Amino acid sequence: MGSKPVTRLTVTDKERLTPGMVRLRFHGEDLSAFAGSVFTDRYVKLVFGDPAAIERGERPALRTYTALDPDPVAGTLAIDFVVHGDAGVAGPWAATAEPGDTINVRGPGGAYAPDATADWHLFAGDEAAVPAIRQSLAALPDDAEGYAVVQVDTAAHEQPLGAPAGVEVVWLHRSDPAHAGLADAVRALPWRDGRVHAFVHGEAQAVMHEIRPFLLHERGVPREDLSVSGYWRQGRTEEAFREWKAALAATEAAG
Ligand SMILES: Cc1cc2nc3c(=O)[nH]c(=O)nc-3n(C[C@H](O)[C@H](O)[C@H](O)COP(=O)(O)OP(=O)(O)OC[C@H]3O[C@@H](n4cnc5c(N)ncnc54)[C@H](O)[C@@H]3O)c2cc1C
Repeated sequence: MGSKPVTRLTVTDKERLTPGMVRLRFHGEDLSAFAGSVFTDRYVKLVFGDPAAIERGERPALRTYTALDPDPVAGTLAIDFVVHGDAGVAGPWAATAEPGDTINVRGPGGAYAPDATADWHLFAGDEAAVPAIRQSLAALPDDAEGYAVVQVDTAAHEQPLGAPAGVEVVWLHRSDPAHAGLADAVRALPWRDGRVHAFVHGEAQAVMHEIRPFLLHERGVPREDLSVSGYWRQGRTEEAFREWKAALAATEAAG
């Protein structure tokens, strides 16, 4: 994403969506790069440090977030941040950010938009993927069918998703003693007929090691109908997680 433009965002508003999620609204100096962006998982890299340092080969901390409702004319966009405690850079920053604070972002990137020709849709993820899932559900035709399976801590962490009537929303609670994880919940879904278009983004172990092989090999979903992305990794910072992803890609390329 080195060629993507950097723009400065100023926080204009802060809203607590759930006990674990904060929405920051921003005004951007120049959001023209978002004009015509079609991906519903479009994201930006927040640059914690001097963005010019990237050009000098240095490494300010970069953190990736889904860009919500970018409006290049009004110069506005929003980001919903998981606030996951004191560890890390972006989560703690968002938890304490106030109107007037600024952050540089690079982007947008993105890769997915729901395929309206699919017979049904499958969305699976955790809190970090809720923003992208919500935007994707909003882009579906009214008669779309499928499932959205979302893992959160407790019922208090659920959010309105605005799914079409034919898309069944399944909330999973980590606090539930009977909860066996995102992958088990996806396995337990009654499989539907026809071609599925799947969006599976969230904690990397669950989405890349558990759900992706299940969909590819046991359900026979073609690669091109499957968008799988590890958004974060339990116990790793984003830098350490990038190394993990690179090693996984190298292993797969070798195998
Ligand atoms: C394309 C893309 C889009 C994304 N969109 C969003 C988004 O819209 N909203 C969002 O909140 N996140 C989103 N993420 C995930 C986000 O980039 C990571 O959670 C990131 O690690 C947060 O950085 P940090 O500085 O807070 O924590 P880091 O410094 O990266 O990690 C510090 C510690 O916190 C833990 N941690 C990190 N994220 C979480 C989490 N979500 N829950 C629990 N523990 C965590 C790590 O395992 C580590 O132990 C997205 C990721 C990608 C790749």
